[in-house]
Amino acid sequence: MLQMYELSISEVRNLRRAAGDELRGDCPFCNDHKGHLYINPVKGVFYCQRCAAAGKITEKIIQKGQIDKCSYRFPRERQTTKLNIKQLDKVYNTLLRCLDLKKEHYYHLLGRGFSGELIRIKGYKSLNSSEDLAELAERIASTTSVADIPGFYQKDGRWMLVEDNGLLIPCRNFEGKIWGIQIRTDDRSKGRKYCWLSSAGRENGTKATAVYHVAVPTKLVNTKNVPKRVWITEGPLKGDYSAEKMGEIFICVPGVNTWKRTRIVEELKRKKIQEAIICYDADAATNIYVAEAAYQLYKALRSKGIQVQFAWWEIEKGKGIDDLLKNGCYPNIVSFENWQKRNQLDRAIRS
Ligand SMILES: [Zn+2]
Repeated sequence: MLQMYELSISEVRNLRRAAGDELRGDCPFCNDHKGHLYINPVKGVFYCQRCAAAGKITEKIIQKGQIDKCSYRFPRERQTTKLNIKQLDKVYNTLLRCLDLKKEHYYHLLGRGFSGELIRIKGYKSLNSSEDLAELAERIASTTSVADIPGFYQKDGRWMLVEDNGLLIPCRNFEGKIWGIQIRTDDRSKGRKYCWLSSAGRENGTKATAVYHVAVPTKLVNTKNVPKRVWITEGPLKGDYSAEKMGEIFICVPGVNTWKRTRIVEELKRKKIQEAIICYDADAATNIYVAEAAYQLYKALRSKGIQVQFAWWEIEKGKGIDDLLKNGCYPNIVSFENWQKRNQLDRAIRS
């Protein structure tokens, strides 16, 4: 039988809202840092998904739907509206310099076609929660401010780094500044392979902003004249590899539906980009929702006077543009109408 415990909600660190009337936070029974403890204040019970500790809470139970009226103490997250790119770049560069790249991540990148040289240039590193992240965070915080930097938060008044595990992928703006870090997580149970380095819901933590990544081939780094044509794809690793392979700039949006929030279209206009080639995964393109998202992006680019074409290839030659290029192939560049026609045909064949 499971041992039953008693617990006060006030003892739970990093308390946050979960679905419905539930709360979640770090489990005090198993030294959890990732919010595995679920509390149902309506039923007055809690359960840890990590160590299976379960029991009753000492607080009075509440009525269904009344959770908003309770005075639970949630961590004070930092509210930032404008990205401090200079500081993000400084802190993230320092952080990446201090970390190593794990062997398994290095081999994963080699397997995707990256050369050792490109891996080094792009600055990929590994985050490993078994390392002393508190010492690392304090060391960085002693040299510069880590407030408002997603990934950093405070624990007992000391700066701390989120205890995540995965491959860190720096995302850069047009000026080459790191303004966000994506994690290709080692934790396959999460469902999502990629997430942002973020300390949302933590004491003095900062939520990550979804930003686009400008993948510039090494031969174009430090050249003053920005090319007139860019490719637009989803995902920074795919973009880094493809940019290098093609010798052209790849803009990597964080998701097919999130390009709008990143204001990438306005930025392309400002950079006087004349032509964009939208290049989503071959299987994604036959998905009607992705097709619709691509159409919205197409319309937005066209409204700024940017010429838009689409990259198309048979899925048998590779799922993503990086797979296609790695297999020694090159995409067909087609008009929006032709892209749509080919995808409709594909959908018809597959259904
Ligand atoms: Zn636990």
